[in-house]
Amino acid sequence: MAREFPLEMFRNIGIMAHIDAGKTTTTERILFYTGKVHKIGETHSGESQMDWMAQEKERGITITSAATTANWKGHVINIIDTPGHVDFTVEVERSLRVLDGAVTVLDAKSGVEPQTETVWRQADKYGVPRIVYINKMDATGADFYKSVETIKDRLKCNAVPIQVPIGSEQGFKGVVDLVTMEGIVHLDDLGKEIEIGPIPESVQARADEYRAILVEAVADLDEDLTMKYLEGEEITVEEMKAALRKGTINNEIVPVICGSSYKNKGVQEMIDAAVDYLPSPVDIPAIAGVTPDGEEDSRPADDNAPMSALAFKIATDPFIGRLAFTRIYSGVMTSGSYVINSTKGKKERVGRLVKMHANHRQEVEELRAGEIGAVVGLKDTTTGDTLCVDTDQIILESMVFPEPVISVAIEPKTKAGQEKMGIALAKLAEEDPTFKTFTDQDTGQVIIAGMGELHLEIIVDRLQREFKVECNVGAPQVAYKETIKKAVKAEGKFVRQSGGRGQYGHAVIELIPTEEEYSFENGIVGGVVPREYVPAVDQG
Ligand code: GDP
Repeated sequence: MAREFPLEMFRNIGIMAHIDAGKTTTTERILFYTGKVHKIGETHSGESQMDWMAQEKERGITITSAATTANWKGHVINIIDTPGHVDFTVEVERSLRVLDGAVTVLDAKSGVEPQTETVWRQADKYGVPRIVYINKMDATGADFYKSVETIKDRLKCNAVPIQVPIGSEQGFKGVVDLVTMEGIVHLDDLGKEIEIGPIPESVQARADEYRAILVEAVADLDEDLTMKYLEGEEITVEEMKAALRKGTINNEIVPVICGSSYKNKGVQEMIDAAVDYLPSPVDIPAIAGVTPDGEEDSRPADDNAPMSALAFKIATDPFIGRLAFTRIYSGVMTSGSYVINSTKGKKERVGRLVKMHANHRQEVEELRAGEIGAVVGLKDTTTGDTLCVDTDQIILESMVFPEPVISVAIEPKTKAGQEKMGIALAKLAEEDPTFKTFTDQDTGQVIIAGMGELHLEIIVDRLQREFKVECNVGAPQVAYKETIKKAVKAEGKFVRQSGGRGQYGHAVIELIPTEEEYSFENGIVGGVVPREYVPAVDQG
């Protein structure tokens, strides 16, 4: 079977933001305009397409990292959902591993916020090319130019507007495209009536000012254009777009655009910018890995190369069952075939292959290099595992998950719930590599450990909702605390030693928080460090 869309037409992107900047609304509007959702639902009225779990809607945050496939002007856009809350930065991390580019959403009232910086740093780590979308231009207090300054100041990047807004706050009407120097005016709040024409008088001066800045920035990206610029020659729209694309992919420039997702202004233009400037799978370096013999290897985004893929999210779908969201890096994965999970050294059978669209699932025969889909039927595969062909094995560079930082004791409210709780916890730990559960040898208590209070709260919530086990949580018992306290007194800091995760298996030794930070006495964090943490003084 041939490729339906050439690889160059794929964009695997994530939408990253500080909580409440409008990531969910923006994602939903993208899905609306890409034609797959036929009704615009408000995120807070429970109509959101990307938030799967009931509690996400209640809390207004996105926890899962599902991938949704959409189409736009001959392109395939896979949107990899990234959560915005600090307790789930690890979820952001795993989605960053498999996406090729990202749209960072800012709130025009506040510009860069703390969580923006966190996700920005994570994206830096993986070298993810980005564009910034300044949302909420319609809101009272919105300030595009101030927001741009916060990007330069706090994110320390070469942020350059490729649009300026037409109007602001209640008067926000659309954007000027600084590349084409056209005004894009939205005549309604539904994104249906759009007039493309001359730049409105009111914003002409700003447009000229920022066009000059853009031209200079573009000239800086390319030697030929530098010459042209110095000689006073006109840089064409095509030249400008090409240089911006290359510069963005090389992380030399961050194009900045704006809009109001809520009022449906600027969203279509943002999808255009994502297509224009963010990389396709062939624009990024071949993924690296190691062979089972320990030799370095890599896999190009090519259908004819041996199949290699990375599972980046395990989820349970009420209708289909266990899903492993997977990105294919090279070759072709076929339904019904056998693959090797090289991370675990196990053979697995690929059952069905499903592409998740916003409001329907599409069963496919195969997934090709660069594509993202859900694999049904894998039994042993967990987040971060590589799947490959038997004859040409590789373990792809995966993600490193941090160890949990907080733990609490948990027990079912009824004795009958004991077994159910055990099964449920095991299942949750399998889905989420940053969630740990174990039984304390001394006290017999079941301890759960995670990335933050909210993380554990959600686990307890899921136990009740999805597994129907009511639980009580509390600080772990004294005997256990005492051991830790003694160690803290002796050393001041704990040292964590772990066997290391993933294929490289090296030991990781890290400092973890001190007694003060954990504050056992007043129970601020409601728990102590888990058993796996070996106090330095106990190590001989
Ligand atoms: P998330 O936490 O980043 O996913 O943010 P949401 O999409 O849930 O949006 C947070 C709040 O901001 C919601 O009340 C939205 O209705 C509101 N919001 C989102 N986009 C806009 C916008 O363009 N303008 C205005 N005024 N409000 C918006």
